[in-house]
Parts: sequence; structure tokens; C-alpha cells
Amino acid sequence: MSTIAEMKVALQTRGVNVPASILAEIKEMSPPGINGGIIFGYLGHNEQKTALYTAVKNEDSALKVTRRSYNRYSLDIDPNFYISFDIRPDIHETDIDGMPFHRVAGIYPNGHLDFAATHYCYYFDDGNQCKFCTIGEWSNASGPGRNRIAKAAKLASDNLNNLHISITTGTLPTIDRGASAIISLANKFLQHEVRLPYSVETEPVPPSYVDEMHALGATTICSNVEFLDEQVRRMIMPLKGEIEFEQYVKHWQKCVDTFGVNQVFTNVLISPLDVNFKENVVALDRITDLGVIPSLAPMRMEWTNPDVMKDVGLPEYQYLYDLHVEVTEMLLKKGLNPNLVNAGCHRNGCYSALRDFYNEAKDSNIL
Ligand code: SF4
Repeated sequence: MSTIAEMKVALQTRGVNVPASILAEIKEMSPPGINGGIIFGYLGHNEQKTALYTAVKNEDSALKVTRRSYNRYSLDIDPNFYISFDIRPDIHETDIDGMPFHRVAGIYPNGHLDFAATHYCYYFDDGNQCKFCTIGEWSNASGPGRNRIAKAAKLASDNLNNLHISITTGTLPTIDRGASAIISLANKFLQHEVRLPYSVETEPVPPSYVDEMHALGATTICSNVEFLDEQVRRMIMPLKGEIEFEQYVKHWQKCVDTFGVNQVFTNVLISPLDVNFKENVVALDRITDLGVIPSLAPMRMEWTNPDVMKDVGLPEYQYLYDLHVEVTEMLLKKGLNPNLVNAGCHRNGCYSALRDFYNEAKDSNIL
């Protein structure tokens, strides 16, 4: 029998087969945007439940769902597993200065609200954007403006429980790389008395910006190296891939010094182009030595650039599974705990099965 961590990796690497008869209702329950080809929900097994992000991939996924009851769909391969969704909050359609709440905030599982301080990224100017980028597809991509965002965050904090926030930014061609836009939004949060934990996400920036975001109330920080293999980085991310790994190392060190362990994360995306397992393990060992938690996930499946991405596809189940086992062992050995994160995508837990591997290893003492 599979564990919940194993099933999550299976769904991440194979996608989920959703019959046409129930696709529309599942799309309705998942956050809007991202072409409708992605679902955000929960994967459950008996008493256990974890947040889930997976692609709808009917052609070649054997992992098919069947409707069991409202909001609950079981996996045909093992009906003990089910996929379910949050009920949309009452404020979903509430008007915020002429825009419904859900167009201002991305609403994700486990109480996660996502805001972009700016959707502009200068990598797009000459067609050098990262090939997996989805920033233009987000439900809040219409650029709601920071005052409106702060009002939406305040409305949510007054009406919903257990919320946390992430603030990201596209990359700006300035020394702060977009951190100033985040700082401006953080100041709006203060003005509007938004007192929720939030994470911030930028490329490596000068240390003073890390200090300023922390001083304004950010609890968690992410700086995403994305891929570990230099060749893959440059192929998939023509400009972002030029930032050297050592720049991330320096930035992560500052982030850990400022935010503390278990509050600094980096996304590590795995694609079929990643073939050097041992080199990946060495890099992940170095990252965890710094006190940074690498959040493993398949390269995103939206394929907003299908011409490029169709030949790449999703990574092998076993490759991603084995890397999770390695990183889990590192976290346990080095005293890092992904359950302690305060805010953002890594508290939401959809994107990576790392926390699930960690919890299962801890529960069973298998590592
Ligand atoms: S840095 Fe890459 S992933 Fe981020 S917004 Fe720009 S193009 Fe998209």
C-alpha cells in the first residue's frame, strides 16, 4: 500500500486523469487561473490529509478519479485515497474597489493567500523569461494595485481563520530585484493593520533589503534557485539562470541569520533533464548545511510555453522519490523541520511532498 507521500509524488509526476463529466466541477473548486489544467486541493488517506497540486493529464495518467460525494473524489487505483477541496469562502466575490476578492488574492489550500507586489518581470521584455513562468496566468494577474491588495488582506484577516500570506514579485532591472515593491506592499499592510504572518520571495538582493523586509514583519523568506544543474538552469531560465549558485549561497546565509532556521526556503524543481542524481545530492547537502530547506517539486506542469516544454515533460517518479528520501534524511540529521514554517507556499504545502516524507519518516523512525 502506498503512503500519502508516495501517492503525492505519483500524482505530481503523472498528473491526474479527470473524466470530462466531472472536470468542470473540479475546476470550479480549484483556484481560478493557470489555464484550468491544474488542480489545487487535498490528498487524503484515512485520517491523514495533505495539500496537493497536480496537473490534469488525461492522456497518460493512470491515476483516475471517480466522484464519491460532493467535494470528494477517490482514486480508482486505490479508493482509500481521495482528493477534496476547500469550500470557497463567503468573501470570494466581495467587491474590493471594483474587483472581486478572488481577482485580488490567489486563494490556496491551508489558509494561504498569495499576492504579487508586481507582476512585471523584465525578463519578459526580450523573451528571456523562465520557460515555466506562470506569473501572467495567476488569478490576480490583472495587477490589482497595492492599496486594493492591502484592503483584501485586511478583509480576509477580519473574516477568516488561520490565514497566512505570501508576497512575490517579478524581477525588476534594479539592484533590489523587486524587493522595493514588496517593501511598499508591506508598508500598506501596516497602514491597513494587516497582522498576518507572511513570506516574501525575491532573487538574491543586497542584505539591507533582507533586513528591511524582516523589520516590516515578514516572517519567512524564499529565494528560489529552481534548478541545480547549471546547464538546465541556463536552458530553462535564460536570464535568471545567469545568477550564480554562489550568489544564492551568500543571500541564503544572510536570510538564515536574519529570519532563523525553518523560515528560509528555496524551490528546487526537478525535470527529466536532471540526470545527475549524485551532483544534486551534493548541492542539496550544501543548501541544508546553511539551514535552508530545499522544497522539491517537479518542474511546474502548466506548460505555459508548450512549444518548449512539450519535449521535456515530467520527471520520473523514482528520481523524485529518491531525492525526497535523501533530503528528508538531511533535514532530520541537521535539525531542520519544515512543519515550523510560518507562512507562504511552504506552509500551504501543495507544491512539495517534502513535509509528507519528513512526517512519515519521523513517525516511523525509518530514517
Ligand atoms: S523570474 Fe522567471 S519565474 Fe520569476 S517572474 Fe520572472 S520570468 Fe517568471
